[in-house]
Amino acid sequence: MQKLYSSKEIKNLSLKWQYSSQIIGFVPTMGNLHEGHISLIKEAKRQCDQVVVSVFVNPVQFGPNEDFKEYPRNQASDIQLCQQTDVDVLWFPKEDQIYPTGFSTYAQEEDLSHFLCGKSRQDHFRGVCTVLVILFNLVRPHKVFLGQKDAQQTLIVKRMIKDWHLPLEAIVCPLVRESDGLAMSSRNANLSREQRAQATVIYQSLKAAAKLILQGKTDTSRIAGEINHILTKKRLLRVIYIEIISKKTLKPLRNIETGNTLIAIAVWLGSVRLIDNIEV
Ligand code: AMP
Repeated sequence: MQKLYSSKEIKNLSLKWQYSSQIIGFVPTMGNLHEGHISLIKEAKRQCDQVVVSVFVNPVQFGPNEDFKEYPRNQASDIQLCQQTDVDVLWFPKEDQIYPTGFSTYAQEEDLSHFLCGKSRQDHFRGVCTVLVILFNLVRPHKVFLGQKDAQQTLIVKRMIKDWHLPLEAIVCPLVRESDGLAMSSRNANLSREQRAQATVIYQSLKAAAKLILQGKTDTSRIAGEINHILTKKRLLRVIYIEIISKKTLKPLRNIETGNTLIAIAVWLGSVRLIDNIEV
């Protein structure tokens, strides 16, 4: 595995691969890698000749009062995990190369970004789209691998790829959970023991909602009410949103549409913001 730090190096390597007609897979991450990331890497290895993983905590996608500083970073473990998974190139982009002095061009998706996390994290997706376009232009991947954990993000990135005719394909991989159901997330590392114990209620509430739907309940406001009831039993947890929406448009649904429904949740546990979702 090669470790790269400069954008020039990754650009040159990518050019070399293009000349030899190799399929390049790309897994962009913010590091503190876990099994969720590894599942993306493994899928990329299955589908591509060369796999690039980037680790970059992108300052532009964090709001001024968000956890950019506290975001967990663990380079040594990231290197080890990528080596074990046979990653070809692990790239640690340098902030001053991604956003050089005078940087002033941002990418903004203006439909899907307004829903869900976009309501409480203004400019978050603008930061995500901006960094991804820059990383795509340097890596020139044929395929980018994204996790269903960030369901809204996958839709926005796919929209950007389509709208801008970007020459790559987005592959969405399933959400990976801990054995007790909690969605794996780098931020889980910042939970206290008590918060971690209470966090399991997130998936439990989603499962309870799925059960209600299986029993024939279709009224989304009732189902959201039940999720809220389950979540608010936990003292340390504060609900940011519970949304039952179309999985294509992210617009709220009045009634469950089987095969086109996403139930998405965001909560605070202390100062840690967690998201989760299921499709029904
Ligand atoms: P992050 O490092 O959190 O920015 O995530 C990088 C990529 O890994 C994104 O495409 C995420 O959706 C994906 N990812 C993060 N957590 C999980 C998970 N639990 N299961 C599947 N994919 C994940």
